[in-house]
Amino acid sequence: MRLLVAEDDAALRARLASALADAGFAVDAVADGTEAEFLGQTEDFDAAVLDLGLPGMDGLSVLSRWREAGRGFPVLVLTARARWHDKLAGFNSGADDYLTKPFQLEELILRLRALIRRSAGHAHPRLACGPLELDANAGRFSLRGDPLALTAQEFRILAYFMHHPGKVISRGQLGEHVYEGGFDPDSNALDVLIGRLRRKLGPGLLHTVRGQGFVLGDPP
Ligand code: CA
Repeated sequence: MRLLVAEDDAALRARLASALADAGFAVDAVADGTEAEFLGQTEDFDAAVLDLGLPGMDGLSVLSRWREAGRGFPVLVLTARARWHDKLAGFNSGADDYLTKPFQLEELILRLRALIRRSAGHAHPRLACGPLELDANAGRFSLRGDPLALTAQEFRILAYFMHHPGKVISRGQLGEHVYEGGFDPDSNALDVLIGRLRRKLGPGLLHTVRGQGFVLGDPP
């Protein structure tokens, strides 16, 4: 899962980026509203954390532009303002959730996971695909009831598959959602990663669809 974080407070941005990376997300962190707006228009994010008070372009304008352009990824708005009419303006601009500073990083992570899960159409925090289960709140996988040890990149890729079971995911899509910044979908790093995941998962779960990509669970 790939996140955009737009926060101009350098210390908070660094804390967010490191806590979210530890929680298994690929994170693109920016300090400027104009840059955030551009990235949200051009890159595929699974969610965004958006500060309202940003230099360049304020957060509400960034959000309105994304929504006007049909960018539908869930957005959690951060703000120092707790006044109700500011919250209302945030939701009217298309925010999905709201946190007032100061906040607990744990709460932010729980809320983000819930937003991503719901935007993928899953109401329940436990996602299952055959013997594989993801506890989306805890950020843990299990296979046949046993905990599955994964690296950060393996976790990201498998979490993306778990949110889209039975759907063919292209190499480009995987690249977009697993790696921060640029990614070359033709590099064999992705094949190495998929190969390692297959060995951990055992046969019959993660399939290659020739010329199209990969699918978790039964191919369509
Ligand atoms: Ca700010």
